[in-house]
Amino acid sequence: MLNSNHLELSSAWGLTYQALNYVHRPSTVEGIRQVFTLAKENGRTVGLRGSGRSYGDAAVNAEQILLELTRMTRILDWNPETGKLTVEPGVTIRDIWRYIIGDGWWLPVVPGTAFPTIGGALGMNLHGKNQYKAGTLGEHVLEFTALLSTGELLHCSPEKNPEFFYAMIGSFGVLGVFTSITLQMKRIYSGQMHISTHATANLQDLLNTMEQRKASSDYLIGWIDCFAKGQALGRGQLQIAHEFTPGEDPNPQRTLSVQFQEPPEELFGIVPRSILWRFIKYFVNPLGMRLTSLGNYLMGLLKNDKQGLESYVSANFLLDYFPRWKETYLPGGLIQHQSFIPAEHAYAGFREILQTCHDYGLPAYLAVVKRYRPDPFLISYSVDGFSMALDFHVTRRNRQRLQEMVAHLDEIVLKHHGRFYMAKDATLYPHTVSTFLGETTLAQLTALKSKYDPQNLLQTNLSRRLFPQIHITTPNAQIESN
Ligand SMILES: Cc1cc2nc3c(=O)[nH]c(=O)nc-3n(C[C@H](O)[C@H](O)[C@H](O)COP(=O)(O)OP(=O)(O)OC[C@H]3O[C@@H](n4cnc5c(N)ncnc54)[C@H](O)[C@@H]3O)c2cc1C
Repeated sequence: MLNSNHLELSSAWGLTYQALNYVHRPSTVEGIRQVFTLAKENGRTVGLRGSGRSYGDAAVNAEQILLELTRMTRILDWNPETGKLTVEPGVTIRDIWRYIIGDGWWLPVVPGTAFPTIGGALGMNLHGKNQYKAGTLGEHVLEFTALLSTGELLHCSPEKNPEFFYAMIGSFGVLGVFTSITLQMKRIYSGQMHISTHATANLQDLLNTMEQRKASSDYLIGWIDCFAKGQALGRGQLQIAHEFTPGEDPNPQRTLSVQFQEPPEELFGIVPRSILWRFIKYFVNPLGMRLTSLGNYLMGLLKNDKQGLESYVSANFLLDYFPRWKETYLPGGLIQHQSFIPAEHAYAGFREILQTCHDYGLPAYLAVVKRYRPDPFLISYSVDGFSMALDFHVTRRNRQRLQEMVAHLDEIVLKHHGRFYMAKDATLYPHTVSTFLGETTLAQLTALKSKYDPQNLLQTNLSRRLFPQIHITTPNAQIESN
């Protein structure tokens, strides 16, 4: 019998969806095995969850069991000479940078927030602002151990069980549970980076400048004012970062300390960061965001070509400076539409997307552009090109129209040979996914699923919504038919 004491509401990070789940938080591999046994005995499925930072329903398993790995938080091995790190899956990006920075190391790839767990990060195979140079996080995994739903532990590396290695990373928690992961960290020679800001007049200017600068920069991120139209469509700014070379920082001990990196608790020494979201809330409406976007663009013009220094934490995790900022989007929440389009089609594709948002009267509140290279994993969103991530406020009034619009945006992305990323998704349809991934990839995933999870135990709302073909039978169905 499942114990109702375990019933908890779990949400999509974007707050557009929540459901009751039987939540279990084991702290050992044996504890995970016991949850699998409980699920099998009760004809339930098991969804995996790290910190729940995926925007949609990727880490929710409505009315079923949800296995949260946030208590498996041990750092199992660290070698400050080689930069090899072995961790349990619930260790977060924040835990890692705090542990290694004093030894002069940083993670090779980080997302825009430090809160994801390593298990969840590899469940999605996340990327950073240096994807065009460093690839995805999975490309820095030396080896991992996965617990299969059969109870067996599988050790994998690019050489050992390579087929499973390249499928498990990025397979959104449906093949097994990462229980220990060894990663190669990156040497750094300062806790600061050189940052320069460049105003860009329109979309073409932004993409061209990114293309020109990519070979000589370490991190690139473009921002777009989605309210601009006509000749200025896609105007914005580009931030370029360069890391320090050996010996360049006169006092690396200071900048490589946790204390130097941690943001202050108060803004300007008086306003606690924890209450900032209450002020931001007044700007989360079409007029407020129009003004904010214009202000950002003008700031970009003012700072044009200016150089500055920023800590690694501030340069990478700016959004974490504003705790609870997503609550400014309540009651409706937010969705993100992130598309990845090959370089030769990116201008036409993104232009059409931005124009379509104007046609619907729903410009995005935040838009970010990054540069990518392809990756070697089975479930891949990467292209040799660009991504554009658009944040939309969901309200009672716009919900239906927004849903129609993003379906239209998906068609534009497919027309331009683009791809999508499960970590950000809340709205895709299965036919869109099968079009961009292709039948061969889906057949491979389905074959691996039936080989390594023969009882189809590992499922989430997202996997059922987008990959119905991999869930041919459910444990419930098996029990009913027996
Ligand atoms: C503000 C913000 C900024 C972001 N910026 C970026 C960015 O720049 N780049 C980027 O790539 N992503 C970004 N993301 C998305 C985020 O990095 C991913 O969603 C990541 O997967 C979240 O990790 P998590 O621990 O919260 O995992 P969850 O969201 O809890 O889970 C993610 C997936 O992994 C599976 N999973 C969880 N644990 C395990 C495990 N131990 N073994 C196997 N599967 C598991 C889950 O079933 C789920 O499918 C951002 C998210 C936010 C909220």
